[in-house]
Amino acid sequence: MAKRNIELIAAPPNPHWVGDGFRVHNFIPRGYHLEMERMNPFILLDYNSKFEFPPAEKPLGVGVHPHRGFETVTIAYKGRIEHHDSTGGGGIIGEGDVQWMTAARGILHKEFHESEWSKQGGLFQMVQLWVNLPAKDKMSDPKYQAITNADMGRAILDNNAGLVEVIAGGYNGIKGVATTFSPIHLLNAKLNTGGKALFSFPPDYNTALLVLEGGVTINDSEKVPADHLVLFENIGEEFTVEASQSSIVLVMSGEPLREPIAAYGPFVMNTHEEIVQAFNDYNQGKFGYLED
Ligand code: MN
Repeated sequence: MAKRNIELIAAPPNPHWVGDGFRVHNFIPRGYHLEMERMNPFILLDYNSKFEFPPAEKPLGVGVHPHRGFETVTIAYKGRIEHHDSTGGGGIIGEGDVQWMTAARGILHKEFHESEWSKQGGLFQMVQLWVNLPAKDKMSDPKYQAITNADMGRAILDNNAGLVEVIAGGYNGIKGVATTFSPIHLLNAKLNTGGKALFSFPPDYNTALLVLEGGVTINDSEKVPADHLVLFENIGEEFTVEASQSSIVLVMSGEPLREPIAAYGPFVMNTHEEIVQAFNDYNQGKFGYLED
């Protein structure tokens, strides 16, 4: 297997607020002018690096808004998130849990700090990924996968190196529980100090990692501190991640969808006409109704 080299080590871009509850660094697509095509099917990556929220009686967050044409994957590393949507669905994303929401043909939802957590306040850290849908699935039915930390596959590494939680796809024969519309691997590597893990994905799979905790060395040579994103070249398969201290690393790799992308705000489709249609459908109430 050939080594896969680093294309870019990205420091966290200046944060911006999504509503009043999510202070995020947008690594994809804006922070580094990485077009949605570059990491497709991962077309957006918002990272709320650790941020201390004071206690709040009224939970902070983002009010009712639509999505169409893709999935939102929310990973809570610290703190808890509560969501409600226009299909009557809702739930709490606990610390360590993942919510995989398929917006597909359209959904309205709102995302807030969970009310009890909000009253206490504390350290908050989360990732939201947007995962593109193949054209044939963009208008399918919305759905949720609530994936608790206990549901995830767990690959225990040799030499007390740590473990890899498998959210989607697989690692060392351990499978994740999330079902996806295209081949995706989404992994949380939790490495002990000195622990080393080997990852291997097909060269054409777009591949990146985000260091959430600690610090790592990639391919025995490149040091990457916390809150940095590493984008890999699409040449070669294998890379190693070695923790210089106790570390958490989100590894994402997916087969690119070789279809045109037309994106505007909360809608990601294949053509401009479909974006216009999305706005029309939204304005005509076809995404349902959700109270503020
Ligand atoms: Mn949303």
